[in-house]
Amino acid sequence: MKTYRIALIPGDGIGKEVIPAGRELLEALAAAHGALRFEFERFDWGGDHYRAHGAMMPADGLDALRAMDAILFGSAGDPHIPDHITLWGLRLKICQGFDQYANVRPTRILPGIDGPLKRCGPLDLDWVIVRENSEGEYSGVGGRVHPGQPIEAATDVSMMTRAGVQRIMRFAFGLAQSRPRKRLTVVTKSNAQRHAMVMWDEIALQVAAEFPDVAWDKELVDACTARMVNRPATLDTLVATNLHADILSDLAAALAGSLGIAPTANLDPERRYPSMFEPIHGSAFDIMGKGWANPIGTFWSIVMLLEHLGEAQAAQRVMQAIEHVTADAALHTRDLGGTATTEQVTRAVCARVGAAALAG
Ligand code: ATP
Repeated sequence: MKTYRIALIPGDGIGKEVIPAGRELLEALAAAHGALRFEFERFDWGGDHYRAHGAMMPADGLDALRAMDAILFGSAGDPHIPDHITLWGLRLKICQGFDQYANVRPTRILPGIDGPLKRCGPLDLDWVIVRENSEGEYSGVGGRVHPGQPIEAATDVSMMTRAGVQRIMRFAFGLAQSRPRKRLTVVTKSNAQRHAMVMWDEIALQVAAEFPDVAWDKELVDACTARMVNRPATLDTLVATNLHADILSDLAAALAGSLGIAPTANLDPERRYPSMFEPIHGSAFDIMGKGWANPIGTFWSIVMLLEHLGEAQAAQRVMQAIEHVTADAALHTRDLGGTATTEQVTRAVCARVGAAALAG
């Protein structure tokens, strides 16, 4: 019997709905599996914690997470708190504190989902975007002087280091190598940004030499958006900077049918710290409390969590259950044009996980 300790951080908005759904799924998996157990610890950090204590999480919050095997995170965002506080005070604090430098975002059009690319078959869109998650445009380097004065000035410096670029390139080439097509697109903007992005390109070329069996190309980020829409099948694994990948992965999620489906993993590939798994959507306050939140993004994130823990068979079982449920239009939530509730989708996926266990 293997027991994993999972930290649950629902955060704000619909995070408080999809993370309990994720817990139910893990409990259903444990009940069906026999050899797997999960121990949960919930951390009520986020906007409410900020209102009560003036911080999104306690100062020693990372210490409470350190011994966990993985973190399942909902979202951080609150209409009454500035976005830079909610983001830097919780999600980025964990990502940076635990050096989760590889942010991995798979995109596929799941069975039954009607994506906007009508010309594209489900097999034409099967991507993994690797986002540099520790530096670049979001390194937090910069400042503001003379606030409110006519001479006010502000900077956000995109900082890249050789070590940081090297490790994300190695990770991305390695991931591309592990996928059937062994193809990587390095996203860049070195025509306009002639320092850090030129170094990014140079390091990509150097790391490529370590992976001779990976076919790779370089694409400017602006051209990449058009390629994602017009020639999706030419892409497989992509690696991009923090900002570029942030934008490209929202486009990818929309092209795959809904923001409510897409998962992400914030990985410390060296496994010094727990990695964190979360749906890519935000807090979506507009639909909070209505039971409309699509839990599939959280469920797919759980698939990534299980893969990271080395539980490939359990991960596959959950993914198959998700695909079984998305194939049934009666189980689509509103973001997918249906009327199903979070609870109905959760119940269906859990039931399928149980049924698959009986059959297997
Ligand atoms: P944040 O400010 O926390 O980043 P947000 O509320 O601005 O988030 P998102 O959560 O990123 O925005 O999503 C945009 C819209 O997409 C939401 O307002 C919501 O209507 C819809 N949406 C997002 N996620 C889901 C989901 N899981 N289920 C259903 N609809 C969703």
